[in-house]
Amino acid sequence: MKKLYLVIPCYNEEEVLLETKKRLKIKMTDLIKNKVVSPHSKIVFVNDGSLDNTWNLILDFHKKDRLFTGINLSRNRGHQNALLAGLMTVKDDADMVITLDCDLQDDIDVIDKFIEEYNNGNDIVYGVRKSRQKDTFFKRNSAIMLYKLMHILGIEVIYNHADYRLMSKRAILCLEKFKEVNLFLRGIVPLIGYKYSVVYYDRQERFAGKSKYSLKKMLSFALDGITSFTIKPIRLIVLLGFMIFLISIIMLVYTLIRHFSGQTIIGWLSVMTSVWAIGGLQLFSIGIIGEYIGKIYLETKARPRYIIDEYLEEKKKSK
Ligand code: UDP
Ligand code: MG
Repeated sequence: MKKLYLVIPCYNEEEVLLETKKRLKIKMTDLIKNKVVSPHSKIVFVNDGSLDNTWNLILDFHKKDRLFTGINLSRNRGHQNALLAGLMTVKDDADMVITLDCDLQDDIDVIDKFIEEYNNGNDIVYGVRKSRQKDTFFKRNSAIMLYKLMHILGIEVIYNHADYRLMSKRAILCLEKFKEVNLFLRGIVPLIGYKYSVVYYDRQERFAGKSKYSLKKMLSFALDGITSFTIKPIRLIVLLGFMIFLISIIMLVYTLIRHFSGQTIIGWLSVMTSVWAIGGLQLFSIGIIGEYIGKIYLETKARPRYIIDEYLEEKKKSK
């Protein structure tokens, strides 16, 4: 029987953790009892540098029940890095890993379907939200806009799939080869290319606590998602620059003609406008180029993407 590991990133989740633990325990016990997964399966909480009692709760779960284990990151590194830390830490022990959020907004009853798809030979199973009615207006629309924009820019992501997914050991070993620091798992996983399938579910409301994704975190996530996967914005700027250059040649010819025909009345307004327009465009362009140079800067430093302070059950492991 195959070993299933559930990897759950947690950031300041003391309000939901007890309930989450209870529900996951019921689910996992069921799966084990029905011989769907091995009795050596585990539930792994990754504490992403929480400032509240989250890690103590995890320690307590582990002490009382060996179904639970935990990974403590040395500080907050964000959702994506916490997921990666979890996946990389358990990859040798697990046959398949399902990642899900701590607030159980993703319906855990479809885990059975995930495993079914895995048994049908799929290395990756994406959980896709059927509807987002339970999300806030802002969250729903900003997410839809992000997917649309990514689609236009040619980035391959599964529509309405967040990070609720199953990956086989083989797929995780491939993921390990992607060394990028600007991590956007939703974009990277499809690049692995193994056989995949999709499972649909209804997105629930967070049953306690607030979203841990601040507006700032969301914006930086979206920006990472785009700039880590495509250089189309740079191409657009090059195109824009070229067009403006063509226009300026036409303008030059036009003004020369006016000059030689003695009609030169060069307006202050037009000069000022063009100075501002060009200045603005240049700044904008430099800004976007800077964004990519920033990325290169971070990649060349090749800093570790997370540092594990403690992995329960095993001696200290760091990466
Ligand atoms: N999370 C994390 N580190 C962070 C922010 C969030 O590990 O810096 C975790 C959080 O604990 C949760 C998951 O990522 O398990 C998704 O966060 P949340 O539910 O707040 O996001 P939303 O559902 O609002 O998109
Ligand atoms: Mg949530």
